[in-house]
Amino acid sequence: MSDKAILFDTSRCSACRGCQVACKCWNDLPSTLEKNGNPPTGSYQSPMDLNGDTRILISFNEEAGGSKGVKWAFGRRSCQHCTDAACATICPAGAITKHEATGLVTVDDSKCIGCQYCSTACPFDVPRYQEGLRTTVNKCTGCVDRIEQGLEPACVTTCQPDALVFGDRDEMIALAHERADFLKARGYEDAVVYGEDEMGGLHVIQVLKYGVAAHGQVENPQANPVVGLTQIMKPVTGAVTGLTVAGLAAMFVLGIGYKRDKLAYNPETEDTISVDTGQVVKHGDGQDEETVMEHITENLPGKKGGN
Ligand code: SF4
Ligand code: SF4
Ligand code: SF4
Repeated sequence: MSDKAILFDTSRCSACRGCQVACKCWNDLPSTLEKNGNPPTGSYQSPMDLNGDTRILISFNEEAGGSKGVKWAFGRRSCQHCTDAACATICPAGAITKHEATGLVTVDDSKCIGCQYCSTACPFDVPRYQEGLRTTVNKCTGCVDRIEQGLEPACVTTCQPDALVFGDRDEMIALAHERADFLKARGYEDAVVYGEDEMGGLHVIQVLKYGVAAHGQVENPQANPVVGLTQIMKPVTGAVTGLTVAGLAAMFVLGIGYKRDKLAYNPETEDTISVDTGQVVKHGDGQDEETVMEHITENLPGKKGGN
């Protein structure tokens, strides 16, 4: 199977939000209990942002103009399935991976430890942490479970005006250029194709009728520098074990360490280390002396050994 992509043509989108509903139905996600923000914003956008139960959002970007006084530039807020996926690079648990057959970026809930490194790394502010019963991050998986059964992603299947199309990435790029050229010929000189090269090439290709910023997309997206830092740390930590613990402790002090407890992850050995004691609390080879959960429980405020 060759690389696949979802094509989103903003000039065809009616903002019906059927895609939002289809995503929730297929992935069994509840609706957020809000109207359009509290206090209400007056916008038709709902919800106002992605959240742990919402993997895709149609944004209502408004500008003055047009025959009725307002012009809408609808946008798709969801995972863009980057070729250079910063979230997958930084994930210490191997929970975010690229689907080899399609290039889409998936999440394995059962592996996610809720550290939220991916949320920090993503240039599009996509992965969202779900507090409460589910303590993992949530994001679009590209519906690889459907694709593997010969189906299209749920959002694409439901889109009536064909604003969403799914197919080989090369074909989606060619189709996007056809559409952008058509729009330009009709006087929309800012129409542009987005996703061909950004982050090594996205697997959501977009035709942005009014230009990149107007549709709420990120101009020249870059991964958070933390991602590069963790990659630089790898050879250093491999060469000098003593520096490993010191380096990981420094990472924690810088706020890069686990947020739930004073733990740090050594990407070289895959060990999880207590920053306070330097003790390995979970070995990468599975030879646990103490489970991470035991360590966290022991160190809860008010407990013996806690702070
Ligand atoms: S289903 Fe299609 S037309 Fe409706 S909001 Fe989604 S992309 Fe736009
Ligand atoms: S858009 Fe964000 S979450 Fe999606 S693949 Fe890229 S870095 Fe990962
Ligand atoms: S591809 Fe699947 S998971 Fe992603 S937004 Fe569409 S329906 Fe939701």
